[in-house]
Amino acid sequence: MLEELQDLYQQVILDHSRSPRNYGVLSTANRKAQGLNPLCGDSVTLYVKVENGRVEEVMFQGAGCAISKASASLLTESVKGKTPEEVRALFARVHEMVTTGKAGSADLGKLAVFTGVHKYPARVKCAILPWHAMLAALEGKDEKVSTE
Ligand code: ZN
Repeated sequence: MLEELQDLYQQVILDHSRSPRNYGVLSTANRKAQGLNPLCGDSVTLYVKVENGRVEEVMFQGAGCAISKASASLLTESVKGKTPEEVRALFARVHEMVTTGKAGSADLGKLAVFTGVHKYPARVKCAILPWHAMLAALEGKDEKVSTE
C-alpha cells in the first residue's frame, strides 16, 4: 500500500512537471519574484495578481528539475483565492511536511505528494523554492530570492 501511494505520488509529480498548470507570464500581475536554487540549477519566477487582499491569479515560469516544476505547478493551484496570511500559514505546513515527512493533522491535499521529499535532503530546496518566491512576491519584493 505504501509503495502504491508512493507510485501515485510520483505520477502526480511527473504529470505536473511535464504539463505544468498555470505556466507562463501573467500580464496582469502586480507582484513578481524569482527564486533560484544554485545547488540544483532551478529557477522559477512567480507572477501574482493580488486584489482585494487575496491572490486572484498566479502563474509561473522557469526551468529546473521535475520536483521544482511540480512544486510550482501545485503551488499555483493551491494559493488561488487565499489571503497572504493564509498562504504563509500554508507554507509553514508545507515546509514542515517537506522537511520532516509529517503533515500532522493538516489536510494539504495534492501538496501531500511532497511528503517523501524529506528523505532526499538535496531535494528539499527544490520543493521549497517556489514557495520562497511566492512569499517574496507577496511581500512586494520584485527581486531574486535564493534558497542559499
Ligand atoms: Zn531541483
